[in-house]
Amino acid sequence: RPALYWIRRDLRLADNPALHAAARAGRPVIPVYIHAPAEAGDWAPGSASNWWLHHSLQALADALAARGLPLIVREGESLATIVELIAETGAEAVHWNRLYEPARIEHDTRVKQRLKAEGIDAHSHNAALLHEPWTIQTGTGGDYKAFTPFWRACRRQAEPAPPLSVPTDLAAPDGARDLAGAVVPPAGITAPLDALDLLPRVDWAEGLRRTWQPGEQGAQDRLGGFMETALADYREGREQPAVAGTSRLSPHLHHGEISPRQIWQAVQTQLARHGAEGDRLDSAEMFLSEIGWREFAQHVLYHHPEFPDAPLNPRFADFPWQEDPGDQLLGAWQRGETGIPLVDAGMRELYTTGWMHNRVRMVVGSFLVKNLRLPWQAGEAWFWETLVDADLASNSLGWQWVAGSGADAAPYFRVFNPIRQGERFDADGAYIAQWLPALAGLPAKHRQAPWQAPASVLGDAGVTLGVHYPHPLVDLKESRQAALAAFEQIKKGA
Ligand code: FAD
Repeated sequence: RPALYWIRRDLRLADNPALHAAARAGRPVIPVYIHAPAEAGDWAPGSASNWWLHHSLQALADALAARGLPLIVREGESLATIVELIAETGAEAVHWNRLYEPARIEHDTRVKQRLKAEGIDAHSHNAALLHEPWTIQTGTGGDYKAFTPFWRACRRQAEPAPPLSVPTDLAAPDGARDLAGAVVPPAGITAPLDALDLLPRVDWAEGLRRTWQPGEQGAQDRLGGFMETALADYREGREQPAVAGTSRLSPHLHHGEISPRQIWQAVQTQLARHGAEGDRLDSAEMFLSEIGWREFAQHVLYHHPEFPDAPLNPRFADFPWQEDPGDQLLGAWQRGETGIPLVDAGMRELYTTGWMHNRVRMVVGSFLVKNLRLPWQAGEAWFWETLVDADLASNSLGWQWVAGSGADAAPYFRVFNPIRQGERFDADGAYIAQWLPALAGLPAKHRQAPWQAPASVLGDAGVTLGVHYPHPLVDLKESRQAALAAFEQIKKGA
């Protein structure tokens, strides 16, 4: 009798424990994706994530088809659909890989209980993390609130196991049936993915198509390219937004097209091949610690389910945010029209490609929360809608870090100066020129603060502020002072 492999954010065949277990000893497998966004609670995937999901499902369907397996695609409540599928196919077992968001944990617990109560062999597996959130504990059995001791505790654990290979004996059951009860062809998907309505009605995804290749192959290509060209210099290269110095694996990791164990192994292989010493070792360790930040985010969310919505430090619950009638300030920030080049370049990179460099995420976040004094939840929501790597744990951690209210957060009084940040990390203004072509004619030293450039320089570059590029929305110095004053208020109130 066959086993169901219930697919969620584990859109790959290699290092896939649930698929492995389902296919044990050549048992026929029925891979099924059930579209049920409501089961993510308040955090159903945003538009950019949906675009990614569509293409990643297509890639997975093609990879399964090449092995003679149809991908069953259904829409509806997961538990009811699984029960239906068991009745239709006579499956004896259901396997899936775990998700760690609070709504998912609650839902999956119910699914497991109900299936077990019906006598179905139901198993969940870990495919997404090196260390599941509950396995890392402080000396007194509590959770970690700071990254460094958390990561140290992770590193004391046994090395991650080597990744699993793709099961070689994947087999479809005889006469697998689709939604309408018809026997499905030996390969192919059983319902057109278009029916899930994941793609935008107005096509804004040109920049995403140009930038990404969703799916397991795209993830492996990205990993290979990064290992060869950028890992050795990661320590330096990771700070420069104009340079491809980071892996850009985040959307692949989020959708489970690659596992952290595969990444871990690739790094070890690279070190073994080229020598684990000096800058190369430092860079590799730093890169692995970023994978550690991803694990830390899951750890914090698991122990603080309210983390995406409420400040971890309760003092920030009463922060005096700025009034923003008609969302004028928020809108300018979202559109990349604040008049602060590094902020606008980042927001346009985000809107165009669905991704933004980490350094710039910190800068645009600081500008929103401190210079505009708008709630971090507004930035979190916009990132959720527009990022292809939007991840509940990492996004909440990032925003609460920026706001100073989270776990291991930047202190609130640390306000990024976007001009200094630009001068430091985009010294030749290449990032500004790429995303704000209106400013590309300015000499590099004036690109970060065009309002400070002499009129003749602006004139030579054909830039009229207020026409070709906006005046700054706020004065950076004054708005910084206002933010610090607001912070003093909550400090006193505490
Ligand atoms: P690399 O530098 O190559 O790092 C490798 C991997 O490590 C990444 O793919 C990612 O999975 C993980 N990682 C790196 N930095 C972090 C971090 N600070 N926190 C958690 N994981 C990290 N990351 C997301 O994956 N999803 C989000 O929704 C998200 N929202 C963010 C919001 C804000 C305000 C900030 C400041 C950061 C956010 N990050 C988020 C973290 C980080 O910016 C991205 O993970 C990183 O830019 C992805 O690029 P990369 O794959 O090239 O990273």
